[in-house]
Amino acid sequence: MTPEGSYKNIILFGPPGVGKGAQAQILSHSHHLPHFSTGEVIRDEITRQTPLGLQVKDAVNSGCLADDEVVLGIVMSRIDLKEYSRGFVMDGFPRNVHQAERLDRLLLARGRKITYALFITAPVETIITRLAGRRICSQCGLTYHKEFKRPRIHGVCDMCFGKVVHRQDDSPEAYRDRLRTYAEQTLPLEKYYQRTGILIRVNGDQTVEQVAEEIRKAIDEQ
Ligand SMILES: [Zn+2]
Repeated sequence: MTPEGSYKNIILFGPPGVGKGAQAQILSHSHHLPHFSTGEVIRDEITRQTPLGLQVKDAVNSGCLADDEVVLGIVMSRIDLKEYSRGFVMDGFPRNVHQAERLDRLLLARGRKITYALFITAPVETIITRLAGRRICSQCGLTYHKEFKRPRIHGVCDMCFGKVVHRQDDSPEAYRDRLRTYAEQTLPLEKYYQRTGILIRVNGDQTVEQVAEEIRKAIDEQ
């Protein structure tokens, strides 16, 4: 139980490839909280051609990053749904301190707040190895890893039998760029959430199960 009541609003952040999405899913199942993957939600808005989705699509097409306010609009439109009233597990947002401040303010206006900010981190070498081994189903988007999470049949998706491929933007140059963006934009969230007193550091340099166990302990034993 959190002192604020029964809800748990949890965010996960950390470098690309550290396994935030997988941990968010595990946490969502174990704590019966809806999983909010910002990337998925935004893709969904674009597919359904909602006004916010169309704004993001314009930004993406013109090669810009989607505007903080547009992404916030999408995030809040979901958080305001009844199914999120008991809490949520969110990954992929916020990505910078400005977004985090805006999110806190918008939540506060609703009498809510983030209860835990889980910072999953790992040494750069681990991150590089994980990113380099990442594979994805060309049909359904399910992710695999050439060492840690192989499909049952080589090159074939377990879920949809689509072709499992090495994504173009998973090249070494691309992930070095992503790591640099992460260090500049997202890493400052560590200090931000430390100040607000809700930061929990998690060692991401372990197996998926071990990381999940560390998170479970941190949340349940607080
Ligand atoms: Zn698939």
